[in-house]
Amino acid sequence: YFVSEEQFQERSVVITGDDARHISKVMRGKPGDKLIVSDGRTREALVEIEGIEAGEVTANIVESLELDHEARIRVTVAQSLPKGDKMETVIQRCTEIGAVAFVPFLSERTIVQYDAKKESKRLERWGKIAKEAAEQSHRNRIPSIEQPLSWKGLLSSFEGYDLVCYCYEKENGKQLRDALKPFVQKLAPDETANVLIVVGPEGGFSEKETLEADQAGAVSVGLGKRILRAETAGMAALTCVLYESGEMG
Ligand code: SAM
Repeated sequence: YFVSEEQFQERSVVITGDDARHISKVMRGKPGDKLIVSDGRTREALVEIEGIEAGEVTANIVESLELDHEARIRVTVAQSLPKGDKMETVIQRCTEIGAVAFVPFLSERTIVQYDAKKESKRLERWGKIAKEAAEQSHRNRIPSIEQPLSWKGLLSSFEGYDLVCYCYEKENGKQLRDALKPFVQKLAPDETANVLIVVGPEGGFSEKETLEADQAGAVSVGLGKRILRAETAGMAALTCVLYESGEMG
């Protein structure tokens, strides 16, 4: 469960909302039970429940745990908005694996219609999925979910990353590993880096988009000989980045 940084200083925490309901109704928590809370950064603590009342759980910190479960390579997954609830799958699974942020974007062949006015509910739901997945996998940070960007908006964000790879199934030359190997070799053992993985829509990127991505400084990478579904490609690429940089497996 995530609590504020200030509560760590005070050594007692109050858990409210859905988390409090989860503790009391699903976990059937009672005074004396122990839980692990995180400040959403690098600190975790073992806490003992003091009381459960009026939708609030109060607990005292028993032991501080300085555990950092975050990868030093900070991977953001930019995903061309997929159909139906597939973005939820992307957020849930990639949060478990270790993504630090998600950038939904719209590209030429994006199938779904996007209406910013109607989307705040969806963004809220995606945030909730990220939070639950972060708790499930003992992440220290909840990944951020950015407002959907246009293709042009996404291209102009590339300069904020140390490496940008866009996954292109028609790539005959460079595979993801070819881009990662020299990049990882240049990093000092405890150096951090920001990597952006860009995944296209169900219909793939247009040729024009691949040229624009090249010009904006991204590297076109293949993920092997098999064509992955749009919602699978990000998970596969993220896993490869973390594996190649020694953060997984
Ligand atoms: N246009 C393709 C087709 O219909 O055969 C499929 C596109 S694929 C379903 C959706 C996205 O996943 C692509 O835009 C790409 O970003 C990524 N992708 C899937 N398989 C890939 C692979 N083998 N190598 C690189 N990227 C891949």
